[in-house]
Amino acid sequence: PLEERARSLDRIANALEARSDEIAELESRDTGKPLALARAVDAARSVLNFRFFAELGRELPDEQYKMEDALNIVVRKPVGVAGLITPWNLPLYLLSWKVAPAILMGNAVVCKPSRLTPLTANLLAEVVTDAGLPAGVVNLVHGSGSACGNALVEHPAVGAISFTGGTEAARHVVANTANNFAHLSLELGGKSPILVFDDADLEGAVNGAVAGNFGASGQSCVAGSRVFVQSGIYADFIDAVVQRAEQVRIGDPLEADTQMGPLATQAQRDRAEEVVAESVAQGATLHTGGGRPPGLEAGWYFQPTLLGCPDQSIRSTQVELFAPVMSALKFETEEEGIALANDTVFGLGAGVFTENLARAHRVAAAVHSGIVWINTYRAISPISPFGGYGQSGYGREAGLDVIQEFTRTKAVWVNTSSAPMANPFVMR
Ligand code: NDP
Repeated sequence: PLEERARSLDRIANALEARSDEIAELESRDTGKPLALARAVDAARSVLNFRFFAELGRELPDEQYKMEDALNIVVRKPVGVAGLITPWNLPLYLLSWKVAPAILMGNAVVCKPSRLTPLTANLLAEVVTDAGLPAGVVNLVHGSGSACGNALVEHPAVGAISFTGGTEAARHVVANTANNFAHLSLELGGKSPILVFDDADLEGAVNGAVAGNFGASGQSCVAGSRVFVQSGIYADFIDAVVQRAEQVRIGDPLEADTQMGPLATQAQRDRAEEVVAESVAQGATLHTGGGRPPGLEAGWYFQPTLLGCPDQSIRSTQVELFAPVMSALKFETEEEGIALANDTVFGLGAGVFTENLARAHRVAAAVHSGIVWINTYRAISPISPFGGYGQSGYGREAGLDVIQEFTRTKAVWVNTSSAPMANPFVMR
């Protein structure tokens, strides 16, 4: 029963909360993110995801339609087995916001976390066992995406796949569900724009761009890595970002005062170096950063970096980097800013900084993205649907929308007429 499943989610939330310090440390060691960040975001939000869906389960609205001589009752049935495939940047957080709604709605799940960051998935497996879930409801398999993930995606018994990862892997996932027709939801990457207008509050806009690019070392799918700044405020904005970037305390993620740790992998660091160098060679101006912080040559550290880009032919404006690299571009008019922001195959997040309310709403309506933040950035809540347009994927995490990813509707028609069903060959 739904209420019993909601109580299970509460027990999981309590057990995760009791192990928050352990979760934060495992996540910090696995990903390289600062311990303080892992505690505030990864550990806390994993708990919140289970708590939120427990509550939502208790308040899920019934859907029924009264028609002439009929009552139509819409029942939500579980898909059966859901495969949950997650990346390395927010391991438990992203897994928990799939597991919680999936099991709330009565599915069994098979989790396939990134092989780079497996530790907190193991902890979740312990927690669900301790919370008394029946064996087989939450299953965990470790292995590579190409072998293990693929086997899950292709399996004939799998009813839904919820995938968070990159566009390339997602293409395989789409192709490999051709036989089982598993319902797919894909949360992919982005190259999200932040538009800063002349009338913006400069401090707020700088904070938004810094959070959107240097927070979590830029290893965020909603990184606002293309920052379009109106010409009147451009020079001040660049100066303020440089100042902020150079103050970030980079170091050992387990140290309490570290604000930015290393990137998760050597490949991430090498790619950031390569793309920054190529962008400078193409004509971008390196305002700050661009390499390894002095004294931190060991480990995959990379400085908060600001590139001034003449246009979007520069490589840093094109590729998703998953590194603390901000590309700033100048624009003149609102129409031009919107056109530049929409000149991308992606459509996950967008930011708008302006004190003009009407403009904020106009721009929010015009940008092609699943999420728009006005005078803020990277705000997130399990109550609000999360997902993208275009090559940022389809389907939604969180909110009421995610319930649809893990259920199928069954419409039950009840004849409420006092007369028996009419002969279909006699027209009235
Ligand atoms: P990948 O796409 O490489 O991997 C994501 C997950 O998919 C991993 O568990 C991976 O396994 C698995 N996988 C890889 N290939 C296949 C396959 N053929 N079939 C099934 N599963 C497969 O992404 P990363 O782990 O490198 O994560 C970074 C990417 O995730 C970024 O590009 C970012 O855009 C995206 N992302 C999107 C988010 C969103 O909510 N929209 C949030 C966070 C990240 P393994 O790697 O273990 O082999």
